[in-house]
Amino acid sequence: MSNNVQSAEVILQTVHSNLNSIHERIQAACERSNRSSSDVHLVAVTKYADWAWVQQLAKVHSEFGENRPQQLVERQQQLTQIQWHLIGQLQRNKVKSVLPHCQLIHSIDSLRLFRKVCDVAQNLNIQPNILLQVNVSEEESKSGFTVPEVRSLWNDLAKEHSKVNVRGLMTMAPASQDMQQARTTFQGLRQLRDSIVNDTDQVPSTWNLDQLSMGMSGDFEVAIEEGATVVRIGSALFRGLESTAR
Ligand SMILES: *Cc1c(COP(=O)(O)O)cnc(C)c1O
Repeated sequence: MSNNVQSAEVILQTVHSNLNSIHERIQAACERSNRSSSDVHLVAVTKYADWAWVQQLAKVHSEFGENRPQQLVERQQQLTQIQWHLIGQLQRNKVKSVLPHCQLIHSIDSLRLFRKVCDVAQNLNIQPNILLQVNVSEEESKSGFTVPEVRSLWNDLAKEHSKVNVRGLMTMAPASQDMQQARTTFQGLRQLRDSIVNDTDQVPSTWNLDQLSMGMSGDFEVAIEEGATVVRIGSALFRGLESTAR
């Protein structure tokens, strides 16, 4: 290896071995909490990954997440066999261009955005899958519905649902090393989901809320113990690689 230029082979070996150890950790967290590892999906977050890494990762994994709509669309068009997840903030004027390229949008964070997605889905005659992003920890810096907002809006959303499938909820723990704080956040999301499912009757059948997207490189094991069905992992997957772009 000269300078920072890594061969495709080295990149593949590195991401493959990182992927294997993440899968082992997922498996161990599932065993601790009496869950099946087939109930936990790994979304590989490629937002900071060089294109060369993404290409190699695509040989060994098939669900990728991006936080910028533009980059998702560009990459989706080049790797059409991959299922692409949008995990970052979405502006209403980008909905139309990104919607047809996403397997699942994790980041529906306001009623206005939800309504826009409903309109666009109607116009394009597609049936997108979405998650509502919840700011469980109520941090100023985070977007998303608060827990009380989701509760109070739920019946209205269900009435307007048109073609959109609400598959579940997404959250992020506060950015800290405090695993107890992360655990409390993840418990909050699961309890919200459980209470909605128990309390509401008029919910469309496609709104089964079975998906809880929570957990990143620093806290995914705790998230799995608290019921995550989707973990979004970026940095742990690309550890050991040096970007040529930055
Ligand atoms: C970047 C990002 C991730 C992945 O974070 P890592 O700490 O790199 O694993 C997960 N979810 C969202 C919403 C992100 O923006």
